[in-house]
Amino acid sequence: MYQCPPQDEQAYWLIFSQDKLVQLGDRPGLIHGSWLELQFVSAYQDEVLLVGQLGQHNCYLIDLGLEQPAHERAELVSLREAMMREGEQAFGIMARAWQLALFYRTHRFCGQCGSAMHKVDWELATHCNRCQHRCYPRISPCIIVAIRDGNKILLARGSRHKEGMYSTLAGFVESGESLEQAVHREVMEEVGVRVSNLRYFGSQPWPFPHSLMVGFLADYDSGDIQVDGEEIQDAQWFNFDALPLIPPPFSIAGRLIQASADNCK
Ligand SMILES: [Zn+2]
Repeated sequence: MYQCPPQDEQAYWLIFSQDKLVQLGDRPGLIHGSWLELQFVSAYQDEVLLVGQLGQHNCYLIDLGLEQPAHERAELVSLREAMMREGEQAFGIMARAWQLALFYRTHRFCGQCGSAMHKVDWELATHCNRCQHRCYPRISPCIIVAIRDGNKILLARGSRHKEGMYSTLAGFVESGESLEQAVHREVMEEVGVRVSNLRYFGSQPWPFPHSLMVGFLADYDSGDIQVDGEEIQDAQWFNFDALPLIPPPFSIAGRLIQASADNCK
């Protein structure tokens, strides 16, 4: 999986330090250029990982782990911010790169016998030579659902949302549960209502830290909104022509809200 990039290839470089993305102060946005211009990461030459393409250019991952970048113009920016700013295609590449970086960082030792793990060179995995335990990057399914009642949609403000932002409901699928069961349970737990007519909508990777958002459209069935005031601080029915601040249109939450609005026309 690792490869030394051609010296003069023009490429994008996703360099992580701690949980931040490295950018060079005088050139905002993803780092673009050749390996020769990246002297400050030359020690990582054998740990460069190809993670995809953006336009005509390859994208390489270099993970500094907990080290700081030794570059006077290096700035550390929040991955969340960078993903929102760079748009849909770069969003996918950054999501993948961060999940792989995190996977290798957190699977250095075997969870079964404690020995050092080795990177498998032909697939994305780590392997323990002592007990043969093998690990793959973890993906955690998470349902996200838009609930519509006529010309209204139920949106909630979570404790982790930015001020004033309302979004669709979401939650992790528990062990032994189907996606549909997770939707019904989460909706009941978070806002106390019943839904019906679930339709699969689409999915989106969300790397905080390794979720796969599985989107559904649903119709309101019965019950009054009740929130716990902790995880969910407020939930309301909003008319489609008077929506609050909502997530951007390329996020799956934004697309679910748009699709619900289109359905009631
Ligand atoms: Zn082991």
